[in-house]
Amino acid sequence: MNRRQRDANRRTAAALAAAARARVLALHTCENCGEKGGHWISTRGISFAALVTGQDDSEGFWTCPKLYGEDGRRLAA
Ligand SMILES: [Zn+2]
Repeated sequence: MNRRQRDANRRTAAALAAAARARVLALHTCENCGEKGGHWISTRGISFAALVTGQDDSEGFWTCPKLYGEDGRRLAA
């Protein structure tokens, strides 16, 4: 397989991955505003130890538009 073909395959794979991600996000309902879309970005999932004890020590941040003003600053909770 030559370089041109490999690069084309990589672009196709990236496009398919992006499309698959968009479909998963579209199915997810935001816990904050109730609209469709993944408004929570998880940077670390719940640890196994926390799962066993029933805690939630996952980490992440919101990208929900309802939490930010027009200037991009986070609104007061
Ligand atoms: Zn939201």
